[in-house]
Amino acid sequence: MKSFFFLLLAGSVRLSSTERGYFWHLTDLHLDPNYTVTSDPRKVCPSAGDQLVTDAGQWGNYLCDSPRVLINSSIYAMKSILPKPDFILWTGDDTPHVPNEQLGEEAVLEIIKWLTNLIQQIFPTTKVYSALGNHDFHPKSQLPPHNNSIYYRISEFWSPWLKNESVISFQKGAYYSEELKDVGAAGRMIVLNTNLYYDSNSLTANMKDPGDQFQWLEEQLNNAYLKGEKVYIVGHVPPGYFEKKRDKPWFREEFNKRFIEIIQKHHGVIQGQFFGHHHTDSFKMFYSESGTPISSMFIAPGVTPWKTTLPGVENGANNPGIRVVEYDRQNLQVFDIVTYYLNLTYANKVSPRWEKEYRLTEAFQVPDCSAQSMHSVLRKIADDSCYLQKYYEYNSVSYDLEACNKSCRADHVCAIREVDFNKYKECIKTESSSIRHTFKIIVLFIAMSVYLFTFDL
Ligand SMILES: [Zn+2]
Ligand SMILES: [Zn+2]
Repeated sequence: MKSFFFLLLAGSVRLSSTERGYFWHLTDLHLDPNYTVTSDPRKVCPSAGDQLVTDAGQWGNYLCDSPRVLINSSIYAMKSILPKPDFILWTGDDTPHVPNEQLGEEAVLEIIKWLTNLIQQIFPTTKVYSALGNHDFHPKSQLPPHNNSIYYRISEFWSPWLKNESVISFQKGAYYSEELKDVGAAGRMIVLNTNLYYDSNSLTANMKDPGDQFQWLEEQLNNAYLKGEKVYIVGHVPPGYFEKKRDKPWFREEFNKRFIEIIQKHHGVIQGQFFGHHHTDSFKMFYSESGTPISSMFIAPGVTPWKTTLPGVENGANNPGIRVVEYDRQNLQVFDIVTYYLNLTYANKVSPRWEKEYRLTEAFQVPDCSAQSMHSVLRKIADDSCYLQKYYEYNSVSYDLEACNKSCRADHVCAIREVDFNKYKECIKTESSSIRHTFKIIVLFIAMSVYLFTFDL
């Protein structure tokens, strides 16, 4: 009898100690295979385009995509910080920002294969859920809504990670879903090919449901509900707007609408969404029609430090970042997110040191990363300039430490709060008019002071 109770106790201790699971989220590695440390500012990296790179360091440069050593260093840092994660999410964009003519199909595939091998070599027994980015295709962003030789070749590279049915699904449209029980968690991972919704993809421009992915996603979510499963949704290009450039969405409007509708309808089974593409550290909120927070999408920072050439973005570089997500293995609730980074300037001057940047619950004083808590984070960012500034510095992975002014605040707050196109525009209008309103009050105050001062005299 005694031993029975001991076993029961041991069982319950083991259960509670295994509830908290950990996984890595890695994204936007963007290898530049031709990165060279040279004093010739035109010859450092093709990914800098016409810009002169005057201070090329061994670990990379903010104008360039990642040299091999930086990528190696990021994967080895993962191994030393958390060597046995439950799994790794890898959300795409492997090739450099150079014109299509400088790459070609074989070059793109070779880079994807090199990175796949590197991750497999360093994490030989870890399951990886990988999604394609818009830069993982030739020509870039033109990912087809049907099978093709590139999906086929990549499914071969990734076959050690994928179940047979996922290989078949991936070859058809580069999306798949798998139960998480093999990695010790309850629930399901749904990996999407949202490049099909990207407005730069001319192949899907006039389609209603490219690759039948929306229909498939709804089936997955319905089945999850019927089975009592919780899910994570993973992809590369996110819906909604880019917080560093006003009025810059990625999805075509109809696709954006459909995505939001699906989240609103099925939010009960969705415990988190993990995306990349921005290279910045941010998040997006989803609300019910009545305004209740129902889901959050976490946008992970990129490994590449590359300063975006998107017109209108000022100083859009970042330090390389990687992150650990802490979650409940029983129901996939997200407990916390810890972001690690490499200060590239310090790495080039002294030594490459991957260090903790911040823990989300600590930095924003919330109990966990549920939709309700992330809504509180957003309110703090919107209402308190200290939180806004903290969020802003993390947004570029502690690269851009300038003050985030009112216009910057509106861009970030509206991109986080409103994924819907019309609501985002409305938000920008309201936030900008509040800026104008504040400006008017200041002008009025100055005018009154001048008047009173004159009157006094
Ligand atoms: Zn990218
Ligand atoms: Zn991308």
